[in-house]
Amino acid sequence: MRRRSIQRIGMALLAAAAVSLTLSTPTAAKPDAGTPMQWREVFSPDGTITKMYLPREQTATQLAPADVVAQADVVTIQYSGLSSQRFDMVFIGDGYTATEMDTLRKHAQAKWDEIAASAPWNKYKSFINVWLVNVISNESGVDNDPSPGVNRDTALDMYLWCNNIERLLCLNEAKARQYANQAPGVDAIVAVGNTAKYGGAGYRDLSTVSGANVLSGQIALHELGHSVGGLADEYYTPGTTYSGGELLAPNATTDSTGQKWASYLGRSTPDGGVIGAYQGGEQYEYGIYRPSQDSLMRSLNKPFNLVGLDVMDRAISAKISGGSTG
Ligand SMILES: [Zn+2]
Repeated sequence: MRRRSIQRIGMALLAAAAVSLTLSTPTAAKPDAGTPMQWREVFSPDGTITKMYLPREQTATQLAPADVVAQADVVTIQYSGLSSQRFDMVFIGDGYTATEMDTLRKHAQAKWDEIAASAPWNKYKSFINVWLVNVISNESGVDNDPSPGVNRDTALDMYLWCNNIERLLCLNEAKARQYANQAPGVDAIVAVGNTAKYGGAGYRDLSTVSGANVLSGQIALHELGHSVGGLADEYYTPGTTYSGGELLAPNATTDSTGQKWASYLGRSTPDGGVIGAYQGGEQYEYGIYRPSQDSLMRSLNKPFNLVGLDVMDRAISAKISGGSTG
Protein backbone atom coordinates (compact mmCIF):
# COMPACT_ATOMS: atom_id res chain seq x y z
CA MET A 1 0.00 0.00 0.00
CA ARG A 2 2.70 2.45 1.01
CA ARG A 3 4.96 1.44 -1.85
CA ARG A 4 2.10 1.87 -4.26
CA SER A 5 1.52 5.41 -3.07
CA ILE A 6 5.20 6.22 -3.50
CA GLN A 7 5.04 4.78 -6.98
CA ARG A 8 2.02 6.94 -7.73
CA ILE A 9 3.89 10.04 -6.67
CA GLY A 10 6.88 8.88 -8.68
CA MET A 11 4.69 8.36 -11.70
CA ALA A 12 3.22 11.82 -11.24
CA LEU A 13 6.69 13.32 -11.14
CA LEU A 14 7.69 11.33 -14.21
CA ALA A 15 4.58 12.56 -15.97
CA ALA A 16 5.44 16.13 -15.01
CA ALA A 17 8.97 15.58 -16.30
CA ALA A 18 7.60 14.14 -19.53
CA VAL A 19 5.50 17.26 -20.02
CA SER A 20 8.59 19.38 -19.49
CA LEU A 21 10.53 17.33 -22.01
CA THR A 22 8.19 18.18 -24.80
CA LEU A 23 8.29 21.91 -24.11
CA SER A 24 11.90 22.87 -23.93
CA THR A 25 15.30 21.65 -22.96
CA PRO A 26 16.76 24.83 -21.52
CA THR A 27 20.09 23.56 -20.31
CA ALA A 28 20.59 20.72 -22.73
CA ALA A 29 23.55 20.19 -24.90
CA LYS A 30 22.36 18.71 -28.16
CA PRO A 31 22.41 14.93 -27.61
CA ASP A 32 23.18 12.36 -30.27
CA ALA A 33 19.98 10.98 -31.74
CA GLY A 34 18.95 7.88 -29.82
CA THR A 35 20.95 8.67 -26.69
CA PRO A 36 18.71 7.94 -23.68
CA MET A 37 18.31 11.22 -21.79
CA GLN A 38 16.93 12.19 -18.41
CA TRP A 39 16.45 15.24 -16.20
CA ARG A 40 18.82 15.40 -13.26
CA GLU A 41 18.90 17.92 -10.46
CA VAL A 42 22.32 19.36 -9.75
CA PHE A 43 22.96 20.86 -6.32
CA SER A 44 25.57 23.44 -5.35
CA PRO A 45 27.08 23.89 -1.87
CA ASP A 46 25.78 27.49 -1.92
CA GLY A 47 22.22 26.12 -2.04
CA THR A 48 21.33 26.76 -5.66
CA ILE A 49 19.65 24.00 -7.62
CA THR A 50 19.55 23.57 -11.37
CA LYS A 51 18.03 20.93 -13.57
CA MET A 52 20.00 19.55 -16.46
CA TYR A 53 19.01 17.31 -19.32
CA LEU A 54 21.73 14.71 -19.36
CA PRO A 55 22.49 11.38 -20.96
CA ARG A 56 21.14 8.58 -18.80
CA GLU A 57 24.06 7.27 -16.82
CA GLN A 58 25.38 3.82 -17.52
CA THR A 59 24.36 2.32 -14.20
CA ALA A 60 21.53 -0.15 -14.39
CA THR A 61 18.02 0.56 -13.20
CA GLN A 62 17.13 -3.07 -13.86
CA LEU A 63 18.97 -5.64 -11.82
CA ALA A 64 21.14 -7.95 -13.89
CA PRO A 65 21.17 -11.59 -12.67
CA ALA A 66 24.82 -11.19 -11.68
CA ASP A 67 23.92 -8.15 -9.59
CA VAL A 68 21.68 -9.81 -7.01
CA VAL A 69 22.90 -8.29 -3.78
CA ALA A 70 23.98 -10.04 -0.61
CA GLN A 71 21.87 -10.23 2.52
CA ALA A 72 22.94 -7.42 4.85
CA ASP A 73 22.41 -6.73 8.54
CA VAL A 74 19.63 -4.24 9.21
CA VAL A 75 20.38 -1.97 12.17
CA THR A 76 17.64 -0.13 14.03
CA ILE A 77 18.55 3.54 14.42
CA GLN A 78 15.11 4.26 15.81
CA TYR A 79 12.03 2.08 16.25
CA SER A 80 8.66 3.67 16.91
CA GLY A 81 6.12 1.02 15.96
CA LEU A 82 4.84 -1.39 13.33
CA SER A 83 5.85 -0.41 9.82
CA SER A 84 2.20 -0.59 8.78
CA GLN A 85 1.54 2.31 11.19
CA ARG A 86 4.72 4.33 10.74
CA PHE A 87 6.82 6.19 8.21
CA ASP A 88 9.90 4.07 7.46
CA MET A 89 13.10 5.93 6.56
CA VAL A 90 15.82 3.62 5.27
CA PHE A 91 19.51 4.49 5.12
CA ILE A 92 21.93 2.45 3.07
CA GLY A 93 25.65 3.04 2.64
CA ASP A 94 28.23 2.68 -0.08
CA GLY A 95 32.00 2.64 0.10
CA TYR A 96 32.11 1.48 3.71
CA THR A 97 34.14 -1.66 4.37
CA ALA A 98 33.32 -4.26 7.03
CA THR A 99 35.52 -2.38 9.51
CA GLU A 100 33.77 0.94 8.75
CA MET A 101 30.24 0.08 9.85
CA ASP A 102 30.60 2.40 12.85
CA THR A 103 31.49 5.24 10.49
CA LEU A 104 28.46 4.45 8.33
CA ARG A 105 26.29 4.45 11.43
CA LYS A 106 27.64 7.87 12.47
CA HIS A 107 27.10 9.32 9.01
CA ALA A 108 23.54 7.95 8.74
CA GLN A 109 22.71 9.14 12.25
CA ALA A 110 23.94 12.65 11.41
CA LYS A 111 21.73 12.80 8.31
CA TRP A 112 18.74 11.53 10.26
CA ASP A 113 19.37 14.06 13.04
CA GLU A 114 19.34 16.83 10.44
CA ILE A 115 16.08 15.59 8.89
CA ALA A 116 14.51 15.10 12.32
CA ALA A 117 15.39 18.66 13.33
CA SER A 118 13.67 20.26 10.34
CA ALA A 119 9.96 21.04 9.99
CA PRO A 120 7.68 19.22 9.64
CA TRP A 121 9.79 16.11 10.32
CA ASN A 122 10.53 17.42 13.84
CA LYS A 123 6.85 17.13 14.67
CA TYR A 124 6.75 13.45 13.72
CA LYS A 125 10.28 12.33 14.58
CA SER A 126 9.09 10.01 17.37
CA PHE A 127 6.69 8.32 14.97
CA ILE A 128 9.20 7.34 12.33
CA ASN A 129 11.13 4.11 12.02
CA VAL A 130 14.72 4.68 10.97
CA TRP A 131 16.60 1.71 9.59
CA LEU A 132 20.20 1.34 8.47
CA VAL A 133 21.12 -1.46 6.08
CA ASN A 134 24.78 -2.29 6.70
CA VAL A 135 25.87 -2.58 3.10
CA ILE A 136 29.47 -3.78 3.10
CA SER A 137 31.82 -2.73 0.31
CA ASN A 138 35.11 -4.37 -0.62
CA GLU A 139 36.87 -1.03 -0.82
CA SER A 140 36.53 2.24 1.08
CA GLY A 141 35.27 5.40 -0.67
CA VAL A 142 33.44 6.15 -3.91
CA ASP A 143 34.63 6.34 -7.52
CA ASN A 144 36.21 9.51 -8.96
CA ASP A 145 37.16 10.81 -5.52
CA PRO A 146 39.25 12.90 -5.19
CA SER A 147 39.52 13.01 -8.99
CA PRO A 148 38.11 11.31 -12.09
CA GLY A 149 39.65 7.96 -12.89
CA VAL A 150 39.92 6.75 -9.29
CA ASN A 151 37.94 3.52 -9.19
CA ARG A 152 36.85 1.51 -6.19
CA ASP A 153 35.03 -1.79 -5.79
CA THR A 154 31.91 -0.84 -3.85
CA ALA A 155 28.54 -2.51 -3.32
CA LEU A 156 26.37 0.18 -4.95
CA ASP A 157 28.91 1.43 -7.53
CA MET A 158 28.60 5.04 -6.30
CA TYR A 159 30.51 7.65 -8.22
CA LEU A 160 31.08 11.38 -8.30
CA TRP A 161 31.46 13.15 -11.66
CA CYS A 162 28.30 11.46 -12.88
CA ASN A 163 27.67 12.86 -16.36
CA ASN A 164 30.86 14.88 -16.00
CA ILE A 165 29.40 16.90 -13.11
CA GLU A 166 31.70 16.75 -10.10
CA ARG A 167 29.04 16.96 -7.41
CA LEU A 168 26.52 14.61 -9.02
CA LEU A 169 26.72 11.42 -6.93
CA CYS A 170 25.16 8.53 -8.85
CA LEU A 171 24.82 4.85 -8.05
CA ASN A 172 23.41 1.56 -9.28
CA GLU A 173 19.78 2.20 -8.47
CA ALA A 174 18.68 -1.43 -8.80
CA LYS A 175 21.28 -2.64 -6.31
CA ALA A 176 20.46 0.22 -3.94
CA ARG A 177 16.74 -0.58 -3.95
CA GLN A 178 17.37 -4.26 -3.40
CA TYR A 179 19.43 -3.49 -0.32
CA ALA A 180 16.91 -0.97 0.98
CA ASN A 181 14.10 -3.49 0.59
CA GLN A 182 15.78 -5.66 3.23
CA ALA A 183 14.47 -3.21 5.84
CA PRO A 184 11.08 -4.04 7.41
CA GLY A 185 9.42 -1.07 5.68
CA VAL A 186 10.45 1.46 3.03
CA ASP A 187 8.87 4.89 2.57
CA ALA A 188 12.02 6.79 1.66
CA ILE A 189 15.63 5.82 1.01
CA VAL A 190 18.77 7.84 1.71
CA ALA A 191 21.96 6.37 0.27
CA VAL A 192 25.02 7.65 2.11
CA GLY A 193 28.34 7.61 0.26
CA ASN A 194 31.67 7.41 2.05
CA THR A 195 33.09 10.70 0.85
CA ALA A 196 33.62 14.16 2.30
CA LYS A 197 33.12 15.84 -1.06
CA TYR A 198 29.85 17.73 -1.39
CA GLY A 199 27.46 15.76 -3.55
CA GLY A 200 24.14 14.04 -4.07
CA ALA A 201 21.37 13.16 -6.49
CA GLY A 202 17.66 12.34 -6.48
CA TYR A 203 15.99 9.21 -7.83
CA ARG A 204 12.36 9.82 -6.86
CA ASP A 205 12.06 8.29 -3.36
CA LEU A 206 15.80 7.60 -3.21
CA SER A 207 18.39 10.29 -2.68
CA THR A 208 22.15 10.08 -2.47
CA VAL A 209 24.25 12.24 -0.13
CA SER A 210 27.90 12.48 0.86
CA GLY A 211 28.20 10.86 4.27
CA ALA A 212 31.05 12.97 5.58
CA ASN A 213 29.88 16.31 4.19
CA VAL A 214 27.69 18.35 6.54
CA LEU A 215 26.03 20.38 3.77
CA SER A 216 24.82 17.45 1.70
CA GLY A 217 21.97 16.41 4.01
CA GLN A 218 20.02 19.31 2.53
CA ILE A 219 19.84 17.39 -0.73
CA ALA A 220 17.89 14.60 0.99
CA LEU A 221 15.54 17.14 2.59
CA HIS A 222 14.76 18.66 -0.82
CA GLU A 223 14.26 15.26 -2.44
CA LEU A 224 11.90 14.18 0.36
CA GLY A 225 9.80 17.20 -0.62
CA HIS A 226 9.35 15.61 -4.03
CA SER A 227 8.91 11.98 -3.05
CA VAL A 228 6.86 12.38 0.13
CA GLY A 229 4.90 15.55 -0.61
CA GLY A 230 4.73 15.42 -4.40
CA LEU A 231 6.03 19.00 -4.36
CA ALA A 232 7.27 20.68 -7.51
CA ASP A 233 10.55 22.49 -7.80
CA GLU A 234 10.26 26.22 -7.22
CA TYR A 235 13.41 27.21 -9.10
CA TYR A 236 13.59 27.97 -12.80
CA THR A 237 15.87 28.37 -15.74
CA PRO A 238 15.99 32.00 -16.91
CA GLY A 239 14.37 32.66 -20.25
CA THR A 240 12.07 29.62 -20.28
CA THR A 241 8.30 29.79 -20.73
CA TYR A 242 5.75 27.14 -19.83
CA SER A 243 2.74 26.80 -22.08
CA GLY A 244 1.14 23.55 -20.94
CA GLY A 245 -1.85 22.84 -18.74
CA GLU A 246 -2.26 23.17 -14.98
CA LEU A 247 0.23 21.22 -12.92
CA LEU A 248 -0.54 18.39 -10.56
CA ALA A 249 1.80 19.57 -7.80
CA PRO A 250 0.22 21.46 -4.88
CA ASN A 251 2.88 24.22 -4.95
CA ALA A 252 2.93 25.15 -8.64
CA THR A 253 0.22 26.68 -10.75
CA THR A 254 -0.38 28.38 -14.08
CA ASP A 255 -2.81 30.75 -12.32
CA SER A 256 -1.17 34.10 -11.58
CA THR A 257 -3.62 34.75 -8.74
CA GLY A 258 -2.55 31.65 -6.78
CA GLN A 259 -6.10 30.37 -6.20
CA LYS A 260 -4.66 26.87 -5.80
CA TRP A 261 -3.51 27.94 -2.33
CA ALA A 262 -6.14 30.65 -1.82
CA SER A 263 -6.50 30.15 1.93
CA TYR A 264 -2.76 30.81 2.39
CA LEU A 265 -2.50 34.05 0.44
CA GLY A 266 -1.07 36.89 2.50
CA ARG A 267 0.00 34.68 5.40
CA SER A 268 3.58 34.87 6.59
CA THR A 269 5.74 31.90 5.60
CA PRO A 270 8.78 30.33 7.33
CA ASP A 271 11.07 31.12 4.39
CA GLY A 272 10.31 34.81 4.72
CA GLY A 273 7.71 37.23 3.43
CA VAL A 274 4.14 36.21 2.72
CA ILE A 275 2.44 33.59 0.58
CA GLY A 276 1.46 34.91 -2.84
CA ALA A 277 1.91 33.91 -6.46
CA TYR A 278 5.53 34.45 -7.44
CA GLN A 279 6.41 33.94 -11.07
CA GLY A 280 8.82 31.11 -11.81
CA GLY A 281 8.77 27.48 -10.80
CA GLU A 282 9.07 23.87 -11.91
CA GLN A 283 11.98 24.96 -14.05
CA TYR A 284 10.19 27.69 -16.02
CA GLU A 285 10.70 31.41 -15.46
CA TYR A 286 7.39 32.41 -17.06
CA GLY A 287 3.94 30.84 -17.02
CA ILE A 288 4.26 29.07 -13.67
CA TYR A 289 3.78 30.54 -10.19
CA ARG A 290 5.05 29.37 -6.81
CA PRO A 291 3.73 30.21 -3.32
CA SER A 292 6.75 32.03 -1.86
CA GLN A 293 9.97 33.74 -2.74
CA ASP A 294 12.60 31.21 -1.66
CA SER A 295 11.63 27.93 -0.01
CA LEU A 296 13.50 24.61 0.28
CA MET A 297 12.02 23.60 -3.06
CA ARG A 298 13.90 26.53 -4.61
CA SER A 299 17.10 26.73 -2.54
CA LEU A 300 18.81 24.40 -0.09
CA ASN A 301 19.29 25.55 3.53
CA LYS A 302 15.79 27.07 3.51
CA PRO A 303 12.60 25.83 5.20
CA PHE A 304 9.53 24.68 3.31
CA ASN A 305 7.07 27.50 2.69
CA LEU A 306 3.71 27.35 4.45
CA VAL A 307 2.03 25.56 1.54
CA GLY A 308 4.75 22.93 1.26
CA LEU A 309 4.94 22.55 5.01
CA ASP A 310 1.27 21.64 5.30
CA VAL A 311 1.47 19.27 2.34
CA MET A 312 4.43 17.49 3.95
CA ASP A 313 2.72 17.45 7.30
CA ARG A 314 -0.34 15.72 5.87
CA ALA A 315 1.72 13.26 3.80
CA ILE A 316 3.83 12.16 6.76
CA SER A 317 0.95 12.00 9.22
CA ALA A 318 -1.09 9.94 6.74
CA LYS A 319 1.38 7.10 7.22
CA ILE A 320 1.17 7.26 10.98
CA SER A 321 -1.53 5.66 13.09
CA GLY A 322 -1.83 4.15 16.54
CA GLY A 323 -0.46 7.14 18.38
CA SER A 324 -0.94 10.86 18.69
CA THR A 325 1.74 13.40 17.89
CA GLY A 326 0.02 15.98 20.04
ZN1 LIG B 1 13.96 19.19 -6.93
